Amino acid sequence: MAKSSLIAKASNKLRAIPAVEKVLQSLGELSLPRQAVVAIVRRELGLLRKERKIPDFETVVERIRGALQTLRADRIQPVINGTGILVHTNFGRAPLGPAVLETLEIVGSNYNNLEYDLSTGERGGRATYLENNLALLCGAEAATVVNNCAAALVLILRHLAVPPRNEVIISRGELVQIGGGFRIPEILEASGARLREVGTTNKTSLADYSKAINKSTALILKVHRSNFFMGGFVDSPSTEEIAQVARKHRLPFAEDLGSGAMIATEQIAGIEHEPTPAEALKRGVDVVSFSGDKLLGGPQAGVIAGKAKIVAALKKEPFFRALRCDKLILAALQTTIDVYLAGGAEAEIPVVQMLRTPKEDLARRAELIIEQLKDVPVQISVGTGKSQIGGGTLPRSVLASVTLDIAPKSMRLPDFGKRLRDGRPPLIGMISGGRFKIDLRTVFPRQDPELVEAIRMALEERPKYPSNQRLKE
Ligand SMILES: *Cc1c(COP(=O)(O)O)cnc(C)c1O
Repeated sequence: MAKSSLIAKASNKLRAIPAVEKVLQSLGELSLPRQAVVAIVRRELGLLRKERKIPDFETVVERIRGALQTLRADRIQPVINGTGILVHTNFGRAPLGPAVLETLEIVGSNYNNLEYDLSTGERGGRATYLENNLALLCGAEAATVVNNCAAALVLILRHLAVPPRNEVIISRGELVQIGGGFRIPEILEASGARLREVGTTNKTSLADYSKAINKSTALILKVHRSNFFMGGFVDSPSTEEIAQVARKHRLPFAEDLGSGAMIATEQIAGIEHEPTPAEALKRGVDVVSFSGDKLLGGPQAGVIAGKAKIVAALKKEPFFRALRCDKLILAALQTTIDVYLAGGAEAEIPVVQMLRTPKEDLARRAELIIEQLKDVPVQISVGTGKSQIGGGTLPRSVLASVTLDIAPKSMRLPDFGKRLRDGRPPLIGMISGGRFKIDLRTVFPRQDPELVEAIRMALEERPKYPSNQRLKE
């Protein structure tokens, strides 16, 4: 052993770094831009040079293939979501339905009337049709759209909280963090507002709000506790009561709703009531903000709806220009809103569809999938799942679901998971209770054949290009 490794070492010294061109030739067709491939090859060869110990040519090529596989995997691409989390920020939140895709194609590939008034032949407002219908759907006087809900909130704060009147009153129970990098106190600060916390974490009274009002107060802000819940000794005044206080002091009252549910979520078994924009406005909130790509099920966007005067003023803010959406987003949202207004959400909005899919449908699909994997050496059974809404929405709600529970005979569960992620398309599931679980609620029925194939491939064949990870092992 020792002797042969010495010989190997000696021969390593004699090997030269392979030429870039030679490596490129052996890599073959890669479906990646040549420039990007060349850059990776150069980088890897550069690293080899530093290591001083040069492996044989085949090993060099394999290593570079691994690096290219990592590069390819980083490209935005479809994945099969077997996590059961409907609105998963890591997976691009809400998938879009056929009606929206059709709009994207036709608007994206043609010129359009984005800012052109067809009736007068002159310059027109941007997305006026969308704004009107959004207002209608929200039961608001007016509405507009920016890039995301965070941007909507920043815009609202920058406009309403201007020094010396820049204090924003908010309950200590609502100083929340949503996802990565969105913390209400930091957003407030970044917007030039001053935070005026009232109450305690678990209890805030109406008097806490009233007492905090002074001549520097700019607005009262309510933030929906979208991604966590509090129980036990908790209390806070109703939206109506806070609205009354705001009105009495002639202060604007804003609410960050986060999710933007337009359906009565409580009608779905296991799901709680999620406040809708229309409800918040009816209770006396002057302006609400919510995401386009959470429960609404549309593209990434931040909707602002409420009093016409506020919405109009927000649109006049110079900063509004920096947050405006492009034609594709506006067109996609326009179709999404039209679908809701036409009563077609369940048929056309994938997130709503998945929410409403009965467990029995999922169970039937699971049986069919298992049937198709009969010949594969694996233990696979139908399990019970608990789908979640995700995306920082309805944290307490779980939807009874159906899972495929897989126990591969020939490999460890993490390795199986890695192989599924290496597949095309990649499939992502969860490990729980000694099984690899795939929740079928978030797998589109049309993906079932791909899912069967993915499981088969992961179990049967070594992935063609080992990843860096495996090479290191
Ligand atoms: C998700 C969420 C946001 C952030 O929305 P984005 O559209 O991702 O910017 C803000 N506020 C609340 C309450 C949320 O739930």
